[in-house]
Amino acid sequence: MVAHELDLSEVPDLGVGGHRTTTAEQGRFVGARCDCGWRGPARRARSRARSDAQEHQGDPAVR
Ligand SMILES: [Zn+2]
Repeated sequence: MVAHELDLSEVPDLGVGGHRTTTAEQGRFVGARCDCGWRGPARRARSRARSDAQEHQGDPAVR
């Protein structure tokens, strides 16, 4: 977990509602992650992790 650093000179491209998601490989699996601390379930396919991330960005309240 990387600490958040606020640098106004370099504003990241935030998704809807300020949730920026990435996918991270975890061994043979791929999981979605978000800057808010949310993590999606481990998936075998990156495309599934991506769809998890998109769902989270669309409705961040669902964990
Ligand atoms: Zn989030």
